[in-house]
This record gives sequence, C-alpha cells and structure tokens, in this order.
Amino acid sequence: MSAIDALPPLREVIATHGLSARKSLGQNFLLDLNLTAKIARQAGDLTGADVLEVGPGPGGLTRGLLAEGARRVLAIEKDERCLPALTEIAQAYPGRLQVLSGDALEIDPLAHLTPPIHVVANLPYNVGTELLTRWLDPPDWPPFWQSLTLMFQREVAERIVARPGSKAYGRLSVLAQWRTDARIVMELPPEAFTPPPKIRSAVVHLTRLEEPRYPADPAVLFRIVAAAFNQRRKMLRAALKGQAPDIEDRLVAAGIKPTQRAEEISVEQFCALARQMSG
Ligand code: SAM
Repeated sequence: MSAIDALPPLREVIATHGLSARKSLGQNFLLDLNLTAKIARQAGDLTGADVLEVGPGPGGLTRGLLAEGARRVLAIEKDERCLPALTEIAQAYPGRLQVLSGDALEIDPLAHLTPPIHVVANLPYNVGTELLTRWLDPPDWPPFWQSLTLMFQREVAERIVARPGSKAYGRLSVLAQWRTDARIVMELPPEAFTPPPKIRSAVVHLTRLEEPRYPADPAVLFRIVAAAFNQRRKMLRAALKGQAPDIEDRLVAAGIKPTQRAEEISVEQFCALARQMSG
C-alpha cells in the first residue's frame, strides 16, 4: 500500500495521541488512507476549491482531501483530543488546513470559506442527517456549497436516493431530489472502520441544481411532504385533511388522485400540489 503523504500511519497517530474511540461522539474512524483518498475523489476535482469537513477526528479523510489537492480544508471537530493530531497535518500542509474546535451544529463556517466550496464528511449519523437537512433547506437557493459528499448508514443513503413507489421513499428523498442530483457513490462494510459499527455505510454525493427542479415555495412544499409522510399508509385525502378544507379539489388540480398514498407521489407532483396550496 503506497503512502499518500509523509505523515505517520493513522494507527500510530491514534496511539501517540491516545485517541480511543468514544461512542458518545459516534467515533468510528477510517484508518486506511487509500480508502480516505478514494472517498475524497468522490467529491470531484477539488483543486481550486475550499472544502468544509465536519468531524475530522484523527484526520484520515482530511489527509485524503489535502492529498487529492483541495485548495483549503476547513475542519470542524468537537473532540478536543483530536486537535494535536490535526495540528500536525496543518504543519505538513502549510496554509491549507484550518481547524475550528466545537460543535458543527452551532458553528457558522461561512466567514472562513471562499467559493467554490464542497462539503465532505464522515459524521455520526444523527448529526449527519440534521446537517444534511439544514444544508438542503437554507434561507436562499443556491446554497453556499457546490456539492455534499457524506457518509451515512446505508439505510439513510437509500432513503436519500429512493424513487417513488419504494419503501425507502420519503421526506428525505423529496428534500434531496428537489434541489440536487443525489447518488450513492460508494458502499463500505463495517470492517472499513475502527471500531467497526454494527451497520453497513454508504457515501452519498449530492450536486446542487442552480434552480430547484420544479417551482414551489419551500415552506409549503416541506409542510405538505412532512404531513403526507407522517401518515404514509393513509390516502392523501385523509393524511392532508388538516392542510386545507378543499384538499381533494387541490389534489385533483395538481394531477393527484385523492386516494393515492404519499409514497406514490413524485417530486414533480408534490411541487404541483405545493403550488396549488400556495395559490
Ligand atoms: N472523519 C474521521 C474519519 O473518517 O475517520 C472521523 C469520523 S467519526 C465517524 C465522526 C467524527 O465527528 C468524530 O471525530 C467526532 O468527534 C466528530 N463529531 C461528532 N459530533 C460532532 C459535532 N456535533 N460537530 C463536530 N464534530 C463532531
């Protein structure tokens, strides 16, 4: 296995800095630098781009991103024990790695980034879903990022890319597919991580669309999508009853049969319904 940089192997880094994995922080580390470089490549050409990395841990993916030519990496890490290891990487790549210590859910990284910006992360799954939802629903579109390359548990990755008619199709699918092209680009077995998690993982790559795929008011769209999937087994005329007194007429006007269920409705149809609700 060829080395991607002149820094010590990650097992040595972890031993030197006493980075025993903490469950409370969702720490499952990637220690194979060839694998982290491969994940970095899924983000596309990073030369000339800034990368926001959330949860760098001991820095395996960070090193992959830098070795693959990212102009700058801004990394946000909650576990202060990781900071000395990340400082060593910053010294090996002068001027190209900035580390912010803290909770990514509370830090606004924008002041530290220059477009074009790509987001790459191997995060604990609960934090990952929360951040994905925020990144997909910013106050203005297009957002600050060009693409998101994120590790999820496989089941969540499947929900993001699911098509209508499948069990996995839901709120997250509509949210992602309305404003991005989303695909699963890599699958990883538990053994790829230290310690190995119980589940399989997958990397999802989402590229932003400059305009949403179909016109709709985001607040209205997300409200009806949430209501529809909250009662996904019910017919839409029942699931959306509270949304408008004449919901059946509005469903028909949007080209949807009131007896259909949420999982049968395409993103285009949800957008048509959102326009009917706004009108
Ligand atoms: N990126 C590293 C890798 O691939 O080996 C570490 C991945 S590990 C699954 C998740 C990392 O996210 C840990 O380093 C953990 O400390 C960090 N983390 C957890 N919650 C966080 C949060 N809210 N904000 C920033 N970092 C967080």
